[in-house]
Amino acid sequence: MSAEIIDGKTFAERLRRRVGEAVPAFASATGRKPGLAVVLVGEDPASQVYVRSKGKATVEAGMESVEHRLPAATTQDALIALVRQLGEDESVDGILVQLPLPPSIDEKAVIAAIDPAKDVDGFTVANAGRLAVGDEGLVPCTPLGCLMLLKDQLGDLTGLHAVVVGRSNIVGKPMAQLLLKENCTVTIAHSRTRGLPALVAQADVVVAAVGRPQMIRGDWLKPGSTVIDIGINRIQIGGGNSKLVGDVDFDTACEVAGAITPVPGGVGPMTIAVLLRNTLVAAHARAGLAAPEGL
Ligand code: NDP
Repeated sequence: MSAEIIDGKTFAERLRRRVGEAVPAFASATGRKPGLAVVLVGEDPASQVYVRSKGKATVEAGMESVEHRLPAATTQDALIALVRQLGEDESVDGILVQLPLPPSIDEKAVIAAIDPAKDVDGFTVANAGRLAVGDEGLVPCTPLGCLMLLKDQLGDLTGLHAVVVGRSNIVGKPMAQLLLKENCTVTIAHSRTRGLPALVAQADVVVAAVGRPQMIRGDWLKPGSTVIDIGINRIQIGGGNSKLVGDVDFDTACEVAGAITPVPGGVGPMTIAVLLRNTLVAAHARAGLAAPEGL
């Protein structure tokens, strides 16, 4: 058996195009473009790449992008003051504080300062709570992107057994909440879980968000299952070269799964596309407009 490859790159391009097409109607109704402010503290190379790609994608979608690049020595108070100021800025619809922050700064305190109406990453307690009780709110980008891919692939998810490996607040937990909302039977696994391969073997849907290269092997999977690999890990392949791999061992998984996201080109591109989508949705909600259909 050779699994169908779930093409997140193409799906994400379509979503970005649809977001871009909805921007002019917002601009003519409000007299301004939706705006996303991204805050980066320090010089972390990976974060710099992410912030650059987010800014570029925002502009390509026809929205305003504002970048605040602060030195690593920025104090927590100064960062919180900036986040609050962005909360009051009428031209800003989305606020994204790029994580991780330097160790001297308490991430939770900074996230708590984000206006939930502009929390396009869905990280505030207010938005996490809305997701938990099934209310409308802004949902973390990566899990929402995964759900979009799953629904596109499988249609109705009702009754499927989904095993989510990973329980972080920004990926695993919201992923599990979203799947529960879609009427899946959800198992959440983590580093203390016993007998992980046997649990994964029961899953119709496996979502891997662990951060351990190629940990989930093909011989763990139920034949025909759908595998969403969120992991992004860089491994050395000899000769001083490296490559990106997921949390799933792609080659062996392909022999057993029915469908699988590749790394790169699966979940990764969805994260930025959903960020743009969330910014557009936040802008509409702040302006008292209905969100565009089909996003
Ligand atoms: P975290 O490190 O915050 O969480 C990892 C989770 O995996 C934890 O819940 C941990 O359990 C669990 N875990 C660790 N080891 C094992 C194990 N041996 N067996 C089972 N579970 C285990 O990572 P994130 O959730 O932030 O990210 C997960 C992965 O997704 C990373 O590779 C990251 O790079 C990637 N990622 C990709 C994104 C994208 O756009 N594609 C966006 C965000 C993340 P415990 O809680 O017990 O410690």
